[in-house]
Amino acid sequence: MTSRYCEVALPLPLRSAFTYLIPESLAETVVPGCRVVVPFRNRAMVGVVLALTSRAPATAKIKEIVEVLDPLSALSPRLIELGRWVADYYIAPIGEVFRAMLPPMIEVRREEEFVITQSGKEYCAELGSRGNCSEMEVTDLALLNLIEIEGKPVRCDRARKLPGGEAAASRLLRLGHLRIREVARRRKSRTQRIIAWNPSAPPLSGKDAHGPAAESTERIRRLLSEERGPLPIKQLLAETGAKRAQVERLVKHGVLEEWEEPLTAEEDLFEMDFTPPANVLNAEQERAVGEIRGWLDAGAFTTGLLYGVTGSGKTEVYLRAIERALSRGRTALVLVPEIALTLWIGRLCRAWFKDAGVAVLHSGLADIERAREWWRVRRGEARVVVGTRSAVFAPLENLGLIIVDEEQEPSYKQEETPRYNGRDTAIVRAKLESAVALLASATPSLESFHHARSGKYKLLELAARVENRPMAGVEVVDLRDEFLRTRKAGAISETLRGAIAQRLDAGTQVLLLINRRGYSWFALCRSCGIAAQCENCSISLTYHKQRNGLVCHYCGFSRPVPKTCAKCGSEHIYYVGQGSEQLEEKLREIFPEARIGRLDRDTARTKREFQKVLGAFAAGKLDLLVGTQMVAKGHDFQRVTLVGVVSTDTSLGLPDFRAAERTFELLTQVAGRAGRGELPGTVLVETYYPEHYAIQHAARQDYAAFFERELHFRRLMHYPPFTALASILIRDAKIENAIRWSRQVAAFLAPAEAGGVKVLGPAAAPLARLKREYRFQFLLKSPKRGELTRTLAACLAACAKAEIPERAVLVDVDPISLL
Ligand code: ADP
Ligand code: ZN
Ligand code: ZN
Repeated sequence: MTSRYCEVALPLPLRSAFTYLIPESLAETVVPGCRVVVPFRNRAMVGVVLALTSRAPATAKIKEIVEVLDPLSALSPRLIELGRWVADYYIAPIGEVFRAMLPPMIEVRREEEFVITQSGKEYCAELGSRGNCSEMEVTDLALLNLIEIEGKPVRCDRARKLPGGEAAASRLLRLGHLRIREVARRRKSRTQRIIAWNPSAPPLSGKDAHGPAAESTERIRRLLSEERGPLPIKQLLAETGAKRAQVERLVKHGVLEEWEEPLTAEEDLFEMDFTPPANVLNAEQERAVGEIRGWLDAGAFTTGLLYGVTGSGKTEVYLRAIERALSRGRTALVLVPEIALTLWIGRLCRAWFKDAGVAVLHSGLADIERAREWWRVRRGEARVVVGTRSAVFAPLENLGLIIVDEEQEPSYKQEETPRYNGRDTAIVRAKLESAVALLASATPSLESFHHARSGKYKLLELAARVENRPMAGVEVVDLRDEFLRTRKAGAISETLRGAIAQRLDAGTQVLLLINRRGYSWFALCRSCGIAAQCENCSISLTYHKQRNGLVCHYCGFSRPVPKTCAKCGSEHIYYVGQGSEQLEEKLREIFPEARIGRLDRDTARTKREFQKVLGAFAAGKLDLLVGTQMVAKGHDFQRVTLVGVVSTDTSLGLPDFRAAERTFELLTQVAGRAGRGELPGTVLVETYYPEHYAIQHAARQDYAAFFERELHFRRLMHYPPFTALASILIRDAKIENAIRWSRQVAAFLAPAEAGGVKVLGPAAAPLARLKREYRFQFLLKSPKRGELTRTLAACLAACAKAEIPERAVLVDVDPISLL
């Protein structure tokens, strides 16, 4: 018997898929994995077919599939299976999971149409037969006639453009003579109009020279020339709120330039004569590559952990492994933790594997570019993919190897629904594909190293830097000692100051890491001791000097610097704590001769700005670079001989059981930036807690010792990797709701204790209020993963039954951030 129905996942925050009827005409074309257009509550939606079935659903009213979108099904059966795993394991809405897996919808355009109803037809006939109509009735008739004459529905925007059409349309809708229906149409062409700022623009004239139009022009200029670069017109209008007419005017006057189809600038950059270094592998690298080749040749699922110190040449190992996978007729996927790294590794791969085809996938690409890359992969034109987190779903066929670079990075965890971890999903995908998953890091996550030691993963080690370059020596500067000795608490310690001066004299470079951006952490009132708070979040505002304002780093709220305390009116406001902006300023005072740059989210808002600063430092045009975590990872600077870490302790104070691990990792990674070239390097770490084990072990660069100590703590406290962890967050703008729902959830969770799931909470979340919402948190721990999953699913089902809104309950499985 043929399958007359199919199960479709729609991009909605709902936990179920929907059943549709397959019309006779599409019986051959609808297959699992294909994208289809279906009607859903008066809307046209694009979903993906998960399965075919011959069983009719219980409901009587079943709708039909309208159209099949692609000649080639978008998802392979294995990717459908992976999607189902993500939905089950992370208790995520299935539609949202598959939305994340599909390419951007650039082929489909949504349109609204007016459909004439039965009463509309009667009204139209009546008006038509009547001799004298009021003005209103004439416009009604004109609109209804348009639809009647065409004999089919008419696009809403077209109908509204008739004289008086806008008013007539709302009238007829209200009276039920018309109804709106949404349809999906295929786009005719895939080009789009790109708008750019003309740098040699003539001065503004006429309307655009003053008033609101001038302001909006200034916004356009800033966006196009400083923040983003050329943009598709739709995006430009959306982001600036400018009127289309104004943009057209500016184009006509030559202030803006336009062209069709975006430049694929990134690709062009890649192809510029780039010859990758021809390195001969050292013995350790050879051994690692040999092992991986063995796994690939065996063709069975294997997870390996490549633990290689910073500068040990892990990238070379990746390239050889990919080479082998390709030569065995399989494909390869490289995941990296951030967009900037896709550029570097993508370029290497393009140089090595030109013939196999290399695609780069990340969220920074315009939809049209991402869709193009995605389909290249789907059609088999690119057999190597380099990408960030979501590329774990890249539609590669016959996947043989997945590499996860810097596997411990928190950025692999998606912090919005579906809250999957790209690294863990990569391992599951490798299993489904009988492929090799290779995790790599200089500071593996505790979980991964634990699995490697217990034999679940295979451990490969690169213990030495290439060409036997020494690791940088790390020295801890005890700020308490310094303070007792000098009685000064300056921007940097005397020790660090002396070391910097020495490097500057020698003409080598210095990198300084500071954990906070902005000028000062808090604005405090001397009289009442209150810190200025965000209006939307329970968090203190950070002072930014250049912007002359107080800014919330969580929701973006900002306000001018207050003259008096909001609480008591006192004029004595002072600023506490040093951020990157202040450090840069102080360094300029201390070292007036030095060329100093700063890299943080304020100075590097765009990729271009980021690369400009980094490029200047790499090219030796800066002597000293100050920055936040951005400077800590991945970069290969050859002339850095000193790395300083200023105020290390801020990350240790976070209410997070991974705080020590993060601190250890950050210090080790930043220490890895020193002494990468011919010149040896030193690292100075300033701290008030020199005895903390994360700092001690980082100073000795002793991962193994840190691991033992931290593992002990995790075992004692019942944290991962010894227990499966999940959090449930209840949130609402009304505190009464948040409290009431938290109580209900507590009741739903009560039986779980019997099954061995420990429930902590409800308690106010560490960020008790965020973006105007009150937040309560539960933490669930269980030594048995299955119990935890069942408990969460049951809890959500109970929430749905109790009609607690879906968006109010946020489940995070294997959470990375507990704020
Ligand atoms: P990691 O990622 O392990 O920190 P990289 O892969 O970035 O290290 O390699 C560090 C540097 O060493 C790179 O400039 C790379 O070209 C170089 N390199 C890698 N392998 C060798 C080798 N066998 N001999 C010489 N240089 C090498
Ligand atoms: Zn006060
Ligand atoms: Zn805020």
